[in-house]
Amino acid sequence: MVGDGFRVHNFIPGHPHMSMQRMNPFIMMDYNSKFYFSPTSVPRGVGVHPHKGFETVTVAYKGKVAHHDSSGNSGVIGEGDVQWMTAASGILHKEYHEENFAKAGGDFQMVQLWVNLPAEAKKTKPKYQEITHEKVNKFQLPDNAGVIEVIAGEYKNVQGAAFTFTPVNLLNARLNKNAKADFSFPANFNTALLVVEGSVRINDKEVAPQDHVALFKNDGENFIIEALENAVVLILSGEPINEPIASHGPFVMNTKEELREAFEEFSAGKFGHLQN
Ligand code: MN
Repeated sequence: MVGDGFRVHNFIPGHPHMSMQRMNPFIMMDYNSKFYFSPTSVPRGVGVHPHKGFETVTVAYKGKVAHHDSSGNSGVIGEGDVQWMTAASGILHKEYHEENFAKAGGDFQMVQLWVNLPAEAKKTKPKYQEITHEKVNKFQLPDNAGVIEVIAGEYKNVQGAAFTFTPVNLLNARLNKNAKADFSFPANFNTALLVVEGSVRINDKEVAPQDHVALFKNDGENFIIEALENAVVLILSGEPINEPIASHGPFVMNTKEELREAFEEFSAGKFGHLQN
């Protein structure tokens, strides 16, 4: 559990083949597979905590999450929405189930990714991008095969709404049964997919079932996925940031000295103030 609201499996960096260095710029991926939360008058979640040096990206599939941060930004994301928070030079935030969702209870399913920032960008001011489902640009696949939602980066000349500091592609492929979609990313980009719903066959070979991740080798540019049933697949591909990674808890910097500074700044209240 992260707090009492997020029942997650950790893939990055928890899986032995998915270290921060290997998956860079994706340095953390927590997946709350579909889970029913019972009604409660006290919303579940995680209270005020700091981040520095990277971005937190939350992709909602079921349920609703409310966010508040010490830069004064707040928002609620639900099904199909994305919250892209740039912690950069340091921020406090809290993440709770949205009040009415908590009261009613229901299925909850989300992904949280941490996207690393290059050293220069770690010094910039925090910011917040709320990319609601309407703002997610979409590529309609031919023959009613489904849709590729471009959150960040590009798919067949459709650009994502998210601003990113380095090249990052983040796509939701919503495919109807038997549909195929092809993808192309530079071989040096680190690329993986998470099957959120249904199951898919990759490159006419391996099957990736629901709630599983597939990690691609850096030895080619193209792959094809085929939906064996109606499927939703999160696809991530990003250019590695060739800088050292020093991480501890909610801080991801380049050196141990910078981690010490981050702790000092946090303790001194330099990330602003936010009420629990
Ligand atoms: Mn957080």
